[in-house]
Amino acid sequence: MQQLPWPGETGLERLCQDAAMRLHRPFLAFLRRNALLAVLAWGAAWPVAAQQDFSKVEIKTEKLAEGIYMLIGAGGNVGLSVGNDAVFLIDDQYAPLTPKIQAAIAAITRKPVQFVLNTHWHEDHTGGNERFAEAGALIVAHDNVRKRMSSEQFLDFFKMRVARSPQAALPLVTFSADVTFHINGDEVVALHCPAAHTDGDAIVHFRRADVIHMGDIFFNNFYPFIDTSSGGSADGVIAAVDRALALATEKTKIIPGHGPLATKAELKAYRDMVATVQTRIKAQIAAGKSMQEIVDSKPTREFDAKWGNGFIKPDSWVTMLATALRPG
Ligand SMILES: [Zn+2]
Repeated sequence: MQQLPWPGETGLERLCQDAAMRLHRPFLAFLRRNALLAVLAWGAAWPVAAQQDFSKVEIKTEKLAEGIYMLIGAGGNVGLSVGNDAVFLIDDQYAPLTPKIQAAIAAITRKPVQFVLNTHWHEDHTGGNERFAEAGALIVAHDNVRKRMSSEQFLDFFKMRVARSPQAALPLVTFSADVTFHINGDEVVALHCPAAHTDGDAIVHFRRADVIHMGDIFFNNFYPFIDTSSGGSADGVIAAVDRALALATEKTKIIPGHGPLATKAELKAYRDMVATVQTRIKAQIAAGKSMQEIVDSKPTREFDAKWGNGFIKPDSWVTMLATALRPG
């Protein structure tokens, strides 16, 4: 079970009030009343969406290429490949949504899901593992996904404990670098990107179909949560995005972890935003500025209109990046 302690008086907790307030009771009541609205407004990001009424969530299916789909509900966007060889799923959102996701898949194919690949360990991407595994799917992920799901985790930014996952939810096959699925007339390559959103991220490239699933390395239209307590870093996010940009063409369809389907140009804009803010914060830390001075300097100023309306507000995001960079 997740515990959601309240923000304290010091350090990151106080400075991350925006995000913490999203967990406040009136807000939760609002979420329950307006679950679908909230999903659209805040991009269904974890852990906010973990509190919502899943009975109101609808799974929308978007066809990206022949046999390839993006499923949108609550939690991370799902990738789906359907063809002669396998039904292959990338991420599976929250556990209560599994029947709805199964129904969305059943509208496309009568075959069972054979593989689930997790882009990282967070519950809004792995919550369905247990039931999909019980239904016969083989769960595949980077080594560190299994490691983190195997023990209790603590998300510093949200001050949230996450219990270890059930045994049946753990990936049975793990990889350390890359793995390729030769399925449905395509080569589907999962590439591990170190120290990005977490320490266990994979981006997934459908070479023939020209589709890339970014996992939570890419939040489209929102400042991204970077889980530094799980080994993530903004520099790793930038490096991972560069890797994806090198694979992408102008026609590539890019599935973000959260937010709408994107183009290469939109992924590039995200990369430039993260890199610009990170560079500014690094310079201020090198100049000996305090956390308050860094936040007050508004290093995100020209980006806030586009990126600052998600579940992490600008000041909180700056605090997240600066905290990760400060020595000690
Ligand atoms: Zn995540």
